[in-house]
Amino acid sequence: MASPFDSIIFDLDDTLYPSTTGIDKCIKKNIELFLIHKCGFSESKASTLRVQLFKTYGSTLAGLRALGHDITAEEYHSFVHGSLPYDVIKPDAQLRNLLRTINQRKIIFTNSDRIHALTVLDRLGIKDCFEQIICFETINPNLPKATRPEEFPVLLKPSLDAFKIALHAANVDPRRTLFLDDSIRNVAAAKEVGLYTVLVGKTVKSEGADYVVECVNSVPQVIPEIWGNEMEMDGDDGTMRRSKSELEAVLATAAVGA
Ligand SMILES: [Mg+2]
Repeated sequence: MASPFDSIIFDLDDTLYPSTTGIDKCIKKNIELFLIHKCGFSESKASTLRVQLFKTYGSTLAGLRALGHDITAEEYHSFVHGSLPYDVIKPDAQLRNLLRTINQRKIIFTNSDRIHALTVLDRLGIKDCFEQIICFETINPNLPKATRPEEFPVLLKPSLDAFKIALHAANVDPRRTLFLDDSIRNVAAAKEVGLYTVLVGKTVKSEGADYVVECVNSVPQVIPEIWGNEMEMDGDDGTMRRSKSELEAVLATAAVGA
């Protein structure tokens, strides 16, 4: 049987590296500092406002602009990501080996800006494993042209419009595409646009999740169908045999790491 998937789309933060690095906490802290120092909100208000804006608008930046604050995406991203301790993200050789056994198209789809995405992929040592990075700038091409902050809404996952733009940019058929993300909201939206979905970093499937993996490196055990019949096929084709042994090596490493 051939693989049911022609393409695999990966979220980045907390999907390709675990939230235990603490990067997500630093991002939240920096967003609150942005609200205090750049927008003039009080320290006591910043934390609740960040959560409110995220719930209502999808992100703090989206919320601030929708409410008329003239904040550019560049100044927001450079403040929020500029001082992150990226050195806590280490090269992941196991993930690199795993990605290299996947012959399908591999695409990143992140709400983060391109500089952050490239920095993280570089730290993980997997930048060359992806053919395309769909990021904030891809989903929001008109934002720099806005004459007032609320002119164009900031689009981000889990908005269905963001997914539609991403699927178009990636030129994939959602019915033949696997999508991995750590966000329950993003997985539910991905299912709505017809993608096969993997919830990452949890133990229980959420609504719309076809699979759940505690860690991206567990994908071979949980979704072996990505590799189709390459595991069983052991004919004269050297390529097939090589990919079988590669996969077995990855599985062995994954088992040791578990
Ligand atoms: Mg994420």
